[in-house]
Amino acid sequence: MASSMAAIVRRRGAVALEDVPVPERRVGDRIVDVRRAGICRTDLFVADGMIPVADGLVLGHELSGTVDGRRATVVPILPCGRCAACASLPERCARPTFLGIGAPGAFASRVRVPEPCVREVPGSMSDEEAAFVEPFAAALAVLSAPIRRGARVAVLGRNRIATLVHRIVAHATGREPARLDESGPIEEHSHDVVVETVPTGAALDVAVRALAPGGVLVLKSRPVERAPLDVARVVQKEITLVGVRYAPFGDAIRWIAERRVEIDDLFGPVLPLARWSEALDLARRPAAPKVFFAPEGSV
Ligand SMILES: [Zn+2]
Ligand SMILES: [Zn+2]
Repeated sequence: MASSMAAIVRRRGAVALEDVPVPERRVGDRIVDVRRAGICRTDLFVADGMIPVADGLVLGHELSGTVDGRRATVVPILPCGRCAACASLPERCARPTFLGIGAPGAFASRVRVPEPCVREVPGSMSDEEAAFVEPFAAALAVLSAPIRRGARVAVLGRNRIATLVHRIVAHATGREPARLDESGPIEEHSHDVVVETVPTGAALDVAVRALAPGGVLVLKSRPVERAPLDVARVVQKEITLVGVRYAPFGDAIRWIAERRVEIDDLFGPVLPLARWSEALDLARRPAAPKVFFAPEGSV
């Protein structure tokens, strides 16, 4: 078996395609042969140095592949193994390490992950759909926010996650949420729940203004920088802030497998690792579809 494989790494302040050692299996871990790896905003933050990582780190955290011949997706939240939550569900860990940030990631033919992070997927799911479980679980988390029956819900943003959140909320509530833009216009007091997907102060301002007194602001995005919030208005309107991270990955797999909402139209091109630069550029475009790598498996 070859001892090295191609991988996309961040090295000396830049991104590069390099040969790195093939990960070896250790006790409690599994080796995933990567079929598809999706590029997301977090990976671009790492690529651009906005999220600092160790020199030589392999990027990537959204993937599908095979583990000992079985098709699987991966929970990229690597559990600390010590807190009460992560014993049952890694996605609930209070002090996790993230794949592709704190541990070598998925933009490579092979990646090593803790066994509880491997989730089998049904044969009916495509490789792209299986690699989309992580962003889907992140979007599905909005349903853990208190959205009462008949609430006027709005989704703020025009990006891929906003579209996905919109479809999920529509399916779950039976009503189409409104869509709000970061730049307005805003009808004050027009909504009971606003889900933000754009991590800027301007976006939060739109959300707070659009909310009716007693409304709920669901915080979905994970900006790398702090975002200002109009606290006085939040207090005056008695707005509840709810941060949501991930739904259980098993729920996301079920939603995708049962095709409760359409996702395939959110998918863009599948490119080999060798075309990494073009792939990152494609993923950077506003409202870009999901771009995937297909690591050749030439380990
Ligand atoms: Zn992601
Ligand atoms: Zn933990």
